[in-house]
Amino acid sequence: MSYLFPAPAVASLPIVGSPLRFPIRRVFCIGRNYAEHAREMGATVDKSAPMFFCKPADAVVADGADVPYPQATDELHHEVEMVVALGTGGRDLDRQQAARLVWGYGVGLDLTRRDLQAQAKAKSHPWDTAKAFDHSAPVSALRAAEQSTLRADTELRLHVNGELRQRGTLGDMVHDVPDILAALSGLFELAPGDLIFTGTPAGVSALRRGDRFHAELQGVAELDGRIV
Ligand code: MN
Repeated sequence: MSYLFPAPAVASLPIVGSPLRFPIRRVFCIGRNYAEHAREMGATVDKSAPMFFCKPADAVVADGADVPYPQATDELHHEVEMVVALGTGGRDLDRQQAARLVWGYGVGLDLTRRDLQAQAKAKSHPWDTAKAFDHSAPVSALRAAEQSTLRADTELRLHVNGELRQRGTLGDMVHDVPDILAALSGLFELAPGDLIFTGTPAGVSALRRGDRFHAELQGVAELDGRIV
């Protein structure tokens, strides 16, 4: 087959301890998955109805790369999140089936144009321009699940210019990973290569040009980068 112009490259991430790369198909995100963050946003958590949105695969930025300050905003916010990487797929799964989709884990930033999000919320518009912009998803190298130890007290942390901005534990999540994947699989057919951002703890705030960030999923993944 010949294309009209060169086909876009497949987005991918490095894998810890492997020469292979993880090819990215889709990026799903859950909103309001930590009660304290929902409160700081003036929102409430609806335990029965997780809220999802998406980012394009080519919004992913690898560890160590510069992140250009996005156009059309004066309020770029960080949201540090555990990222789950899927090795298999399926639809309409129960918790037990959904848990088996997980290939590995990483840590990422769900970068957000908070001013555009506030405007979208006020007008009941979709969140795409606030969430799905270019370079909006820095993600660490991924680590295989069998090499990852995750517990309820495993910490998620974000430092900006050496200052601790966000800190939470996986046990603080409203919906755990099997819950998230089961609910998503009732809305979309999931597939190998999908990444899921699992929500952010409290402490979201602004990033400015020149800021250096260091995100960590304790014992599993680290992500460094700079806003330019
Ligand atoms: Mn988020």
